[in-house]
Amino acid sequence: MPNTKMITQLHIDSVCLQLHRKSIKNLYIRVLAPDGQVHISAPLRMSEATIRGVVIERLPWIKKQQLKFSQAISQTTSTKNTEPYYYLWGRAYGIKIIEHIGKQHLRICDDKLCLYLRPNSSIQDKALVLDVFYRTELKNQLQKMLVDWQVIMDVSASSIGVKRMRTRWGSCNTGTKKIWLNLELAKKPIECLEYVLVHELAHLLEPSHNHRFKAYMSHFLPDWQTRKALLNAASLAHQQAEES
Ligand SMILES: [Zn+2]
Repeated sequence: MPNTKMITQLHIDSVCLQLHRKSIKNLYIRVLAPDGQVHISAPLRMSEATIRGVVIERLPWIKKQQLKFSQAISQTTSTKNTEPYYYLWGRAYGIKIIEHIGKQHLRICDDKLCLYLRPNSSIQDKALVLDVFYRTELKNQLQKMLVDWQVIMDVSASSIGVKRMRTRWGSCNTGTKKIWLNLELAKKPIECLEYVLVHELAHLLEPSHNHRFKAYMSHFLPDWQTRKALLNAASLAHQQAEES
């Protein structure tokens, strides 16, 4: 994984874009679920004027994708808002929007996720409250698991972070011993989180996915292959539009 990443924000025609500089050859534009955030990956040396030019050309497409996501969200939060939609630890919850004055937050009430939002809150507000909720859930579970597994495996990570990742469930930098886990794991059965955590910690013992690595996995987590299959089965299609 290249570490020469720089992230800046661009504002073009009322659209806020996150610009990621990477050592790549082409420019990519992605509009991400659930809130239609726009991510641009651009080559390190491409000028901002060139990037702006490409983005302006693609604006109609970007706005169309954002509209699709906002419609998807409003469908799940309108009158039929008890339909199961949001997942937490492998379980589907209906969502209930409760208008209230004060701090926006989310609470689990029986079989629903109750979103306390200010009147006239935006799609971004809803997405932000959900994001904070998932992050907190994931970090709480991780804290407990991490202490145990570092002792069992006799390894120690320098830090564990949670972020949105598009193509992987976790990553481990064996040089810095820094581990990242995908925020989406909060939606999967909890055994899957444990599997990904043990997988990344095992990289501190063996960097590649060779027979030694698999032997470590089988030693520490004998049912890792079942958990891996469970994770793949539980992976709902990410509502993600992509164009290069
Ligand atoms: Zn790996």
